[in-house]
Amino acid sequence: MGALAFSRGMDLSALDTAIAAKRDDLIALTQDLIRMPTLNPPGQDYRLICEYLDRRLKGHGFQTELIRAHGTPGDSEKYPRWNIVARREGSVAGDCVHFNSHTDVVEVGSGWTRDPFGGELIDGKIYGRGACDMKGGLAASIIAVEAFLETCPGFAGAIEISGTADEESGGYGGVAYLAEQGYFDPARVQHVIIPEPLNKDRVCLGHRGGWWAEIETFGEIAHGSMPFLGDCAVRHMGAVLDRFESDLFPAMAKRHTEMPVVPAGARSSTMNINSIHGGQKEQDDDFTGLPAHCVPDSCRIVIDRRFLVEETLEQVRGEVTALLDGVKSDRPTFTYALRELNSVLPSMTDAHAPVVETVSAAIRDVLGRDAQHVASPGTYDQKHIDRIGKLKNCIAYGPGVLELAHKPDEWIGVDDMIDSARVMGRSLAKLLLPSAK
Ligand SMILES: [Zn+2]
Repeated sequence: MGALAFSRGMDLSALDTAIAAKRDDLIALTQDLIRMPTLNPPGQDYRLICEYLDRRLKGHGFQTELIRAHGTPGDSEKYPRWNIVARREGSVAGDCVHFNSHTDVVEVGSGWTRDPFGGELIDGKIYGRGACDMKGGLAASIIAVEAFLETCPGFAGAIEISGTADEESGGYGGVAYLAEQGYFDPARVQHVIIPEPLNKDRVCLGHRGGWWAEIETFGEIAHGSMPFLGDCAVRHMGAVLDRFESDLFPAMAKRHTEMPVVPAGARSSTMNINSIHGGQKEQDDDFTGLPAHCVPDSCRIVIDRRFLVEETLEQVRGEVTALLDGVKSDRPTFTYALRELNSVLPSMTDAHAPVVETVSAAIRDVLGRDAQHVASPGTYDQKHIDRIGKLKNCIAYGPGVLELAHKPDEWIGVDDMIDSARVMGRSLAKLLLPSAK
């Protein structure tokens, strides 16, 4: 039976019923995922979680591949960067829909009242590190796909599910590596949904860019009682920070983006000064003596500049270097070094792209309200799918409250996972059963 014949007159309520019937399975799956402490750093238990997903997805007819991102940052024999890609072909040719979830979680931190790796279920919420970001989203997508396979076995095209490493540290051992190997080639995959926790009624179109750099100012060491015999690197940095306050911050605040970034404060260019250090190196914790009196000959800051689709990396970089060169004209002995640490370009999927329109329509069907289109202030793996994979038809959509990500007592609501699984299931029907649109 072909997809068209099967889906003609198909009642999608069968899909909803199948998802509702999997509620206990969804809870158990989410708990199992949380109980594997895939902390990053260092990037542990990636193989364990990939093998777990491998068993589960093979049991549902998927062809699976476990792929180690050899030689990527952090990859070692002790902490290998393992990823899984699972693919299930439909009965006739058609588009491929890919669900990509990162399997890593950030450090636990303090302030927890629940076991961070216990997966406790209390009043409809499952607690644990990664519950919201994003093991709940991974579990919801698996349940949505399994329910779709049961109720719509004659679908066209293909479905892929991937579990990838290192999103929390840039995604180089995860999605970036897979994209370099061709896994996100638009000839192979046509629609990508990343179930990050953006709330069940929001479609995230993309994210801002980021540029991270260290700036160092130099001076000349001398006795602290005769600072005029040296040259104070901290005062030079003070002049830089002054310029940031008087010129750079006001200029950035004036720039506004077309991107629907949430929260609204991130709809302008922003910059954080991540750290500052000048003078003698920090003493060890067990040092109890007084510091020697010296004029500092070095001061360093790290800046974290987030930029908009309307800006280019060259402009962002040029603006800071022009400012530093400007300080030089006021301060004859001013010298500096700028070391770029990392950069990520913004990514923004067109609001009329097929995956956006499909998931938005599914949200309307399931929740009875219009989907909100948003963009993320920080980056996520879409950058690699867009920039390396050259695949533009990509969004983030998944259950969970964004503000809970990385916080103590992180949780995911079971009802939210069910609702977003219904949205994902319907999206599959719309994309892979052509007459179900
Ligand atoms: Zn995440």
